[in-house]
Amino acid sequence: MQNINDNLRIDSHKLIYHPERVNDWLIGKNIYPIYMEISPSGGCNHRCIFCAKDYLKYKRVFLDTSSLKKTIKTASHCGVKSIMFAGEGEPLLHKDIAEIIEYTKLCGIDSAVTTNGVKLSGELAKKILPHLSWIRISLDAASAKTYMKIHRAAKEDFNRVLDNLSTAVVLKRRNKYPVTIGVQFLLIKENSGEEVKLAEKLRDLGVDYLIIKPYSKHLYSHSKVKDDYRYENCIKNEDKFKKLENDSFKIYLRKHTMMKLKSKRRYAHCLGLPFWAYLDAEGNFFACSSYLGRKEFNFGNIYKSPFKDIFNSLARRRIIKYCATNLNTYKCRKNCRLDEINTYLWELKYPAAHFNFI
Ligand code: SF4
Repeated sequence: MQNINDNLRIDSHKLIYHPERVNDWLIGKNIYPIYMEISPSGGCNHRCIFCAKDYLKYKRVFLDTSSLKKTIKTASHCGVKSIMFAGEGEPLLHKDIAEIIEYTKLCGIDSAVTTNGVKLSGELAKKILPHLSWIRISLDAASAKTYMKIHRAAKEDFNRVLDNLSTAVVLKRRNKYPVTIGVQFLLIKENSGEEVKLAEKLRDLGVDYLIIKPYSKHLYSHSKVKDDYRYENCIKNEDKFKKLENDSFKIYLRKHTMMKLKSKRRYAHCLGLPFWAYLDAEGNFFACSSYLGRKEFNFGNIYKSPFKDIFNSLARRRIIKYCATNLNTYKCRKNCRLDEINTYLWELKYPAAHFNFI
């Protein structure tokens, strides 16, 4: 039986389902990641005001399809279990994205996409939906006016995304695709108050869920969005959200993540990096997505070295060791991608006294 409150564990983590890999890490083995994020495109068709990667300047570069496929195939042999296509740009801008996603699934790796959804036409949706575990669209507004302001997008894009979502839902239902279709709302002062209206809209459209998540400022982002929004304003609507849910539509209010913004990290150093990796649109592997572009976090490039060499390299081991023993995580981005995983691993590595008294 699944967790009845959060069956996707969206406000938590899923490393608990991989005890063998965790054990290999605990006994000191150099492990391959379970999960990777890949950025097929450096460019983006929007300029969201909260963008964490704006400092990378939306370079119009695309991963070479054949090199990427080679990387994905070896990754599958090495035990990579899932890939999310997202990144510093818009992944659906890559001309071969459908071929790449289909290939990933053929290799036995679960794949997913996070996108702004503008390019998710019926034609593309037909090609990618059958091969995806989930797709998440960043919508962030309930009205075209707010959407334009936040995504700094063309006026027609808001309705285009809603149309694309609606088509995706029809295709999924008609063909019984096992894909979960979700929408993300990054809550900031500029769109606050639109969460309930958006939830109503999405429930009527037939999407599977809406996530409402807090903003956290990226260390290098040029964004002027303030990170002082009082999330209690949204949490007080929890009952309204509950009433909008039904058997096929859920609302994941990331309350735990919202509240964590006020608290201190529960680990001193970063232990989670061996379990994941980030591949940027120029073919560079980074140990952490919060430090993209920083050469001290880059441990190889797919155009220069094979996957296995990159992941067994001294450079990767050094970064992992440095972050696990020296990096001051109190200076890292709040609520970073590995925050929950780090908390879990820290407890495993440094257990409480008398831990046999379970
Ligand atoms: S704690 Fe988070 S931001 Fe810092 S290195 Fe680890 S994953 Fe990156």
